[in-house]
Amino acid sequence: MAQITLQNLAHSYKPNASSDADFALKALDHVWQNGGAYALLGSSGCGKSTLLNIISGLLRPSHGRVLFGDRDVTEAATAERNIAQVFQFPVVYDTMTVGENLAFPLRNRGMDPAYIAGRVQEIARMIGMEEILKQKARGLTADAKQKISLGRGMVREDVNAILFDEPLTVIDPHMKFELRTQLKALHRAFGHTMIYVTHDQTEALTFADKVVVMYDGRVVQMGTPEELFERPAHSFVGYFIGSPGMNFFDAKIEGQRAFVQGVEVPLGAAYGPVSGRAQIGIRPEFCVLAREGGLPFQIQRIEDVGRHRIIRGTCGDVSVNVTLPEGMAIDAEATRLLFAPEKINVYADDWRIAPQGEQ
Ligand code: ADP
Ligand code: MG
Repeated sequence: MAQITLQNLAHSYKPNASSDADFALKALDHVWQNGGAYALLGSSGCGKSTLLNIISGLLRPSHGRVLFGDRDVTEAATAERNIAQVFQFPVVYDTMTVGENLAFPLRNRGMDPAYIAGRVQEIARMIGMEEILKQKARGLTADAKQKISLGRGMVREDVNAILFDEPLTVIDPHMKFELRTQLKALHRAFGHTMIYVTHDQTEALTFADKVVVMYDGRVVQMGTPEELFERPAHSFVGYFIGSPGMNFFDAKIEGQRAFVQGVEVPLGAAYGPVSGRAQIGIRPEFCVLAREGGLPFQIQRIEDVGRHRIIRGTCGDVSVNVTLPEGMAIDAEATRLLFAPEKINVYADDWRIAPQGEQ
């Protein structure tokens, strides 16, 4: 196993790339710690698969280096990298049995047959396929085949990392949770570096210790689920994480105060001069409606989402969501919007800026 370092990495699928827009992956430096459980989260087309395929060696980057430990593997073939990769759609050998499919990576490496048999049993138990080990893969459902792919990705103990590229897409919703739990257990048991690609924040937040958020070919933040929630580094992270996402308002920042639509909003900390487009970001969970103070708020509609409710409305021409905690009544006369000052983040041109005194 090894730490994986991406140095000044960038990739374009175009032969004569010149502008930033030509790059599916923009210049990137990143370290994946040995043994980490990472989620790579972002919307479709942001470059997640491109990044994963560069790590596994399916794709050679147009710029930069990939290091495993101290070894430069940028030019090394996939087979030399000792990486297991599980794709979005099943890759199984139809003519082989379930057991033979699972054993394939081990047989390929000439492992001891007794060891292979034991390991195949162990993996089959994890994916719930002990009963059908002798059955041919042909004719199994896509769901079952994908479980085999997952099992085969996890069968080797000597890999540098296991990469999962949206592996649960074809799995039925009930099974998704179970498999994710299994993957997590496997990570705890064997300590492999795992990178799990998904566009689903719930999957990312439940699987990973560290979530790497990508937007438009860039890593915009790496953090714990709590950090992504409390201090989104980029407005995209604010929108993308949370349901609904963060509210943003154009603002003028003056020390420990913001001015939004001409109304003074106290901040939890003081800020230096802000250059560029200044905004404040506040999560719906930290907004409250009151009868006085704050900004004028107009309710559009109220949605019931399980235990709590979401009030959707507007402040002037800005759409705003407010989370109403469980059991709290709606006051028809509460037409003002207030924020918890210490939960407000300040952004300049979409990037969060640190208040004075923050480490
Ligand atoms: P994601 O996995 O996050 O959905 P991808 O890494 O697949 O994103 O794609 C990133 C960008 O690169 C997209 O704009 C996509 O259209 C483009 N792209 C991906 N694969 C290729 C390819 N083989 N040739 C040309 N463009 C590609
Ligand atoms: Mg992809």
